[in-house]
Amino acid sequence: MGKLYGLIGHPIAHSMSPMMHNGEFKELGLSHHYQAFDLSPEQLEDGVEAMKMLDIQGFNVTIPHKVAIIPLLDEVEQEALDIGAVNTVYKQDGKYIGTNTDGKGYLLSLLTLLQENDLENKKVLVIGAGGAARAVAVSIARAGVLSLSLANRTLEKAENLSSVCNSYTSANAITLQEAEAELHHFDVVINTTSIGMSPHLDRMPLSVERLNEGTVVSDLIYNPLETKWLKLSKQKGAVTDNGISMFVEQGALAFEKWTGITPDRQRMRNAVLKELGGYSC
Ligand code: NAP
Repeated sequence: MGKLYGLIGHPIAHSMSPMMHNGEFKELGLSHHYQAFDLSPEQLEDGVEAMKMLDIQGFNVTIPHKVAIIPLLDEVEQEALDIGAVNTVYKQDGKYIGTNTDGKGYLLSLLTLLQENDLENKKVLVIGAGGAARAVAVSIARAGVLSLSLANRTLEKAENLSSVCNSYTSANAITLQEAEAELHHFDVVINTTSIGMSPHLDRMPLSVERLNEGTVVSDLIYNPLETKWLKLSKQKGAVTDNGISMFVEQGALAFEKWTGITPDRQRMRNAVLKELGGYSC
């Protein structure tokens, strides 16, 4: 018998998650269904109760509920507590448990870009200190790197994130100007800000002037598929990746947590690319 999964957020009409998960259920011959529920902040508490009454087996959580849901759950995993946000809830022994697959999803996508699996030797720069940055930075810190620098317009937020990451690895907070001047020192540079996202296609988080050839550069943005920042980084000889990999991985990890089945990530990726740009790879 099919099980019910879902997504809560506000607004959620634009979300590609229902298409991605329902498509994969269908491909695997499963009669499960993934339903998006648009809940305003005022409706969150009652909405989560309703999800429990529906015996929903797992759900994703998106903006603006990723933080507010924490006290409404039976348990929250330590990594999600460090990040300060839950993006996935699963049911285990009758309890609703919060986890965060955004950071782990990013980490898995990053590992595929490294020539050798040697994250522990890398100097990493994360640009931004918002919600996505917290997930990415905490997961990278927990995995262990040589150093982790966090650069943000509002330095205080980078300092706060750095103090969480320092429990796991050597982390520090720097200004955007310092990041730009020191860009050649980093092996991996990640833009987690919304700078360069459509329709502001001409904007970049930093100048790539000092970027070294061979640096791994990624951008969490996937609209457009190639931001100006990624395009210019590639022209400087960087190894680049957009935000599709993280989006697919975070979804695949949630899918695995809920069903115990490994989905076909390439098929999920193709479905997302088709939705975004009308082509597959
Ligand atoms: P958020 O919490 O609002 O954080 C935004 C970040 O961008 C902050 O660090 C903010 O700096 C910085 N920023 C925004 N405008 C800026 C500007 N004009 N100049 C300098 N810094 C600026 O947003 P979020 O949830 O982290 O999302 C950030 C991006 O990641 C979005 O583009 C989102 O689509 C993408 N994302 C992708 C995935 C994926 O699966 N690929 C997942 C999640 C998010 P301040 O702190 O100074 O305001």
